[in-house]
Amino acid sequence: MFGRNAPTALGRCDEDEDGVIPETNPRRLTPEMLSAPKGTTFVHAAVGRGHTLLVGSTGDVWSAGANPLGQCGQPVAAQVPSFTLIRHWPGETKPKIVKAAAGVSFSIMLSEEGKLYAVGSGEHGQLGNGRTGEHIATGNKTMFDVHSEPILIKSIQDKVITDISCGHQHTIALDKDGFVYVWGYNGYCRLGLGNQQDVLAPKLVPQFAGPNEMTRAALISAGPSNSAVVDRQKMYWMAGKWKNTGEGSSGSPYSSFRYMQDIMGCKVYYICSGGVTHWALAPDDDGTIMTIAWGQGAANSELGLGVDEPKSATKPQRHQPLIAVDLFQIAAGQNTSYFLASPNEKLSDLPRHPETVEAPEVCVVCNEDKGDDDPPLECEKCDFPYHLGCLKPPLSAVPDGEWFCPTCSLPPGAAKSGARGGKRTREEIVEEDDDEEDEDEGKGRKKKGADASKAKAPKRKR
Ligand SMILES: [Zn+2]
Ligand SMILES: [Zn+2]
Repeated sequence: MFGRNAPTALGRCDEDEDGVIPETNPRRLTPEMLSAPKGTTFVHAAVGRGHTLLVGSTGDVWSAGANPLGQCGQPVAAQVPSFTLIRHWPGETKPKIVKAAAGVSFSIMLSEEGKLYAVGSGEHGQLGNGRTGEHIATGNKTMFDVHSEPILIKSIQDKVITDISCGHQHTIALDKDGFVYVWGYNGYCRLGLGNQQDVLAPKLVPQFAGPNEMTRAALISAGPSNSAVVDRQKMYWMAGKWKNTGEGSSGSPYSSFRYMQDIMGCKVYYICSGGVTHWALAPDDDGTIMTIAWGQGAANSELGLGVDEPKSATKPQRHQPLIAVDLFQIAAGQNTSYFLASPNEKLSDLPRHPETVEAPEVCVVCNEDKGDDDPPLECEKCDFPYHLGCLKPPLSAVPDGEWFCPTCSLPPGAAKSGARGGKRTREEIVEEDDDEEDEDEGKGRKKKGADASKAKAPKRKR
């Protein structure tokens, strides 16, 4: 985890200086550090504007960050300073949560059974429980319902929901039959229902509820003030405000879902919505993965279209710098975009940021400091520490010669360790300095592999 940490959306930690966890020294958190049973992994995470939800393989949810309206599912307070388990659930058996989504002042959680749970502010119907709870409090102030313990969204509890996505103040959900439900704040017609009235309980979107199953939905994604759906014919539809001028802007939002004409011919199979960006993946003519991107007003290079290219794009376009990069997941934030890609040559050629990442202090497997009796072995390439006994298979003694961690000993081309970064060894720095003509120079890219002929004792920490 890295980024702005005020409020404490990343939990309180040592790396946090001035409310920022730098990307060069990201925070590493394991479920076991949150007292989860050994072997628990994180399976999903969601970020709102100032809060974070982490979902464990046990079905547990931990939350941290801004919580003035109970959006963390914890007793109302300005913030939840460190990741805390959400303990109180409705019903007799605690639901096993598999996915979470977060808006500004509310959160929605999806259980394995396909039921939805909500926490936070109901001011615009975000909790989907059919009410805002508007009432007059002392001082003639208008107040709304706040639920700091999860409530079941009852009106769709007989549906099997398979996916959820939250905008700033609205939610879009998909069920197993391809029906789409929307609720919450409806400014700019972001719910795609043809009006701007807030919706207090999940409402079926008629456009994707026809008898022809191919016109039903396959994918959903919510942007801050818009909603996107891909139907079973892989066509991309959007509702709400998604640009700054013309059709689709605040003056003339898409009041119901309209398909994106420019990418009509693309068989979209993945979508993601950011603060000012929209992303889609579709197969290219040659069978490679095409990344499609657009976003008017993306003034901070959120689209990453290239140094000499315009920053913003009003219409969907093929993302040139990502041609031949095999993306499979995108996380678009308010003003930053992140991508996961399968290793290939094109990916290895891209510049790295950050160029280096500080290696963790303790063993990356068990996350424990076992003292001087069992100092971890340090990888020659990335400097990440591993206990001998934590390796699979475990090592009984410090190996002769250089030692590379499991990630760094992947075959060349896999390029996984480079993506993770790591401090360069002295040898690498010397090598590069000796060779001014090195074509990798200045690209911030680590040399793949190392000269194994240079016998050198493995490093151990301390
Ligand atoms: Zn260990
Ligand atoms: Zn390594």
